[in-house]
Amino acid sequence: MSNSPNEIDNLEHLFSRLPGLGPRSARRIVLHLLKKKDTLMPSLASSLTVAMKSIVSCSLCGNIDIINPCSICTDIKRDNKVICVVEGVTDLWALQKVSSFRGLFHVLGGVLSALDGIGPADLRIEPLIRRINDNKISEIIIALPVTVDGQTTAHYLKEEISKLNIAVTQLSHGVPVGGELDYLDDGTISAAINSRRAF
Ligand SMILES: [Zn+2]
Repeated sequence: MSNSPNEIDNLEHLFSRLPGLGPRSARRIVLHLLKKKDTLMPSLASSLTVAMKSIVSCSLCGNIDIINPCSICTDIKRDNKVICVVEGVTDLWALQKVSSFRGLFHVLGGVLSALDGIGPADLRIEPLIRRINDNKISEIIIALPVTVDGQTTAHYLKEEISKLNIAVTQLSHGVPVGGELDYLDDGTISAAINSRRAF
């Protein structure tokens, strides 16, 4: 049994559910917040409330923003005939930083995984096919992780998209095996997308 008040236990429990945090680090964070009760806590609480109220998921690409459709989907300077397919929002942001890519994105929301029971219906594949058909897309760039699940998903997508008769390309080598885009430097991402190859 914990000797701390319920309020603290609740906070610890909530923080321990965040990625990368266990009970010990959750406790450290809570104690730190309590130490900064008058400075850090109010701004954290209000930022969480503001984020909860204003941040929405883009109904087209799956990005998160304060407008829907998001600022990328509504940017008329972008090439709306090319869509780069990524696993998650952090990958989108990593590629977005690379100014050489001026197309649109599509967030799948994960990759196929037999182990975790994630099938095609659990990912945003259907909306992708719809976008391709509705917008006369000319090229799909697949930028999924170089892992077994990532590449299984890439092959599945290629099969599905090839039926629609449009070009499918994949990021070039330079993205390390198991590499997550989020961790790569801008130069590597930029080179991988500029020298993409037919898939
Ligand atoms: Zn969008």
